[in-house]
Amino acid sequence: MIRVVRSTHARDHVPGAEIWLGTTTPGTEVPERVDAIESALADWPTIEAVSHGDDVLLAVHDDALVEHLRTVWDRWGDYGVDRVTPYLFPTAGMLGDLPMREPSAVHGAAGRYGYDTMTLIGPGTWEAARGAVDVALTCVDEVGEGVIYGLTRPPGHHVTRAAYGGSCYLNNAAVAAEALRRAGHERVAIVDIDAHHGNGTQDVFYARGDVLYASLHVDSGAGWFPHYAGFAEETGIGAGKGANLNIPLEPGTGDMRWLDAIMRIVQQVMDYGATAMVISLGVDAAADDPESPLEITRSGYFRAGELLGALAIPTVALQEGGYHLPTLGPLVRATLEGLEH
Ligand SMILES: [Zn+2]
Repeated sequence: MIRVVRSTHARDHVPGAEIWLGTTTPGTEVPERVDAIESALADWPTIEAVSHGDDVLLAVHDDALVEHLRTVWDRWGDYGVDRVTPYLFPTAGMLGDLPMREPSAVHGAAGRYGYDTMTLIGPGTWEAARGAVDVALTCVDEVGEGVIYGLTRPPGHHVTRAAYGGSCYLNNAAVAAEALRRAGHERVAIVDIDAHHGNGTQDVFYARGDVLYASLHVDSGAGWFPHYAGFAEETGIGAGKGANLNIPLEPGTGDMRWLDAIMRIVQQVMDYGATAMVISLGVDAAADDPESPLEITRSGYFRAGELLGALAIPTVALQEGGYHLPTLGPLVRATLEGLEH
């Protein structure tokens, strides 16, 4: 049976809302996701996450981002809104040749570190995000030669080295991959099966040859988040050239072509020679999910697990997306059952 690592802080983050196209909508990355997953895995052994220091976290994220997330809720002013909400984004186009500055007003700084208006920060956001990092690190401590699952909430694959967004605050999968490197694995693969491209994880490792990032996802070029990354021609730079694989898929892809893409990724991981793997386990490519049109079934997820499990290398599976509460838990379970098959 697969062991489940969890954090007592996983429910502390309550998004409150998402602001999408200027409209306040209910958040989808809700604490109830934890209940849905825990109840589906209730008969599996659980491990409580152990608190870890910041060394690995600060190897994948800029100090300034981590410090901002740690302190911004306490510094947030009396603006009449109950979440940290960016309003101004210092884009490359705005700054031109000017240096980036640290604004004196906290409402001015919010858009320096957050790149969208959907990912709001409230009273328990830091505790939950930092708890998820401890889940990832505890998984690496405990994985041994087998498979382990970390119930990381909030998810993390959209967080770049320097900025958060996409309902993510700290990049749990990147932290796990870095920790596996430090545990002695010369080459680590991150396989991202979430419906969306993990632009954050790609960014963290884009110039590194020691961590392969491979993702299949709904085509960003067909109008899907994150819009600006996830294209097939993004293959890495410098030492990372060839260690980044994106497989964009068209809406309505379905199991057969999705599993073909998984097989391509499995082949790439073998050719690369990875001795350990992190799976960014989002299940929002499912047919019932409101966030994606890829239409993957439960048996598709089980088969994906089997294909990845056949690599037979130490595997840390971490939760990313998945927003349809009635099917979320069973889909996660099906994938994990395939992995240990
Ligand atoms: Zn997603």
